[in-house]
Amino acid sequence: MHRSSFTTSRADAAVIGGGFYGCMLAAHLRAAGGRVVLYEKHDDILTRASHTNQARVHNGYHYPRSLLTGLRSRVNLPRFVQEFRDCVDSSFDKVYAIAARHSHVTARHFVNFCARIGAPLRRAAPRIRELFDPHHVEAVFAVEEFAFDAVRLRQAMWSRLRASGVEVRLGTEVQRIAAEGDGLRLDVQGPDGPEPLSASRAFNCTYSQINPLLARSGIPPIPLKHEVTELALVEVPEELAGIGVTVMCGPFFSCMPFPSRGVHSLSHVRYTPHASWRDSGGDLLDAHRLLAETPWRSRFPLMRRDAARYLPALADCRHVDSLYEVKTVLPASERDDGRPILMEHDVGLPGLSCVLAAKIDNVFDMLDAVPVPAVHQRRRSA
Ligand SMILES: Cc1cc2nc3c(=O)[nH]c(=O)nc-3n(C[C@H](O)[C@H](O)[C@H](O)COP(=O)(O)OP(=O)(O)OC[C@H]3O[C@@H](n4cnc5c(N)ncnc54)[C@H](O)[C@@H]3O)c2cc1C
Repeated sequence: MHRSSFTTSRADAAVIGGGFYGCMLAAHLRAAGGRVVLYEKHDDILTRASHTNQARVHNGYHYPRSLLTGLRSRVNLPRFVQEFRDCVDSSFDKVYAIAARHSHVTARHFVNFCARIGAPLRRAAPRIRELFDPHHVEAVFAVEEFAFDAVRLRQAMWSRLRASGVEVRLGTEVQRIAAEGDGLRLDVQGPDGPEPLSASRAFNCTYSQINPLLARSGIPPIPLKHEVTELALVEVPEELAGIGVTVMCGPFFSCMPFPSRGVHSLSHVRYTPHASWRDSGGDLLDAHRLLAETPWRSRFPLMRRDAARYLPALADCRHVDSLYEVKTVLPASERDDGRPILMEHDVGLPGLSCVLAAKIDNVFDMLDAVPVPAVHQRRRSA
């Protein structure tokens, strides 16, 4: 069918990307009224980074080198737990261990940091301490941190989107954005062909795909760093079943409950990243394409071998599956491991905003930065 036979529809706001951030933002914008359309190129929402991650609801402990990220996590965790209680697993003992060598923090630094951000911390019980090799681990702490169930979160997002009246277009990819009058024109490829849209505002919430979409729209990239990551899913031996462990702070590992599959995830700072690169001008690597077209080979044996030096029982964990996803962060995160969100407005075009999520809980930092009446304001001025 010829392109011109597809009629252009109008919306107040278009949100591109049906991950947790895009869904939350679309429902938030819709609260101001008007037509809000959410585009997701896959056949369901929350199938990419919002599904394939460590499932940790951060409470600050993970960021002893970034006070701000630690403090924001302390503010956001209670909010997340309150809004998504049914998606949160708090049934396990969460443990942070400090490696005796090559750690960026000592146990004393960690204790001081937790006191500064007000995060509860106590010495782990003897039955938990005894699980660790004392030659490799300086101290073991019991903390308050949870995991989320990504499948339940997807269900919660569907309920929220339906209740708020957001129009969700699945299997639909936004290919390009251009200026049109006072607003924007989106070239959209739906399951049945082109679905052009005119919108007052558009939000690029595509995470690892932010820059490929900008590039297709003739807009220079935002400096971002990407890593292809492997999350090994494992069955842990009985003594580790009710425990989530993180060994800090450097080239170590986490073994966390992964509630949506009823197993644990094992990730290792050294072996989880299979490839990394930064976006710069010129040809951009399309992270989703790279992920889909490369036959990745699991590094689970390396993860398990190193992790078992610290937590010997892990030698008996069984590999169930490996999930691969691209992790995208701001280059500045490399300095202090901080995780601020990126929220930029009028990126290359008036009315086009880009959001880079950092972690699940700080979605509230994004919502606070987008006042609800914004849709109406732009509509009035149009
Ligand atoms: C390995 C790993 C471990 C992590 N661990 C944690 C953790 O323990 N705790 C935590 O809080 N955070 C963690 N994170 C970070 C967290 O997962 C992300 O910050 C968050 O999920 C990103 O949400 P999002 O909605 O921006 O991205 P996504 O969930 O990736 O959603 C973006 C969506 O955009 C869609 N899309 C892309 N291009 C287009 C287009 N042109 N048109 C239409 N749709 C498009 C994609 O298909 C995708 O569904 C981790 C991330 C990774 C990768």
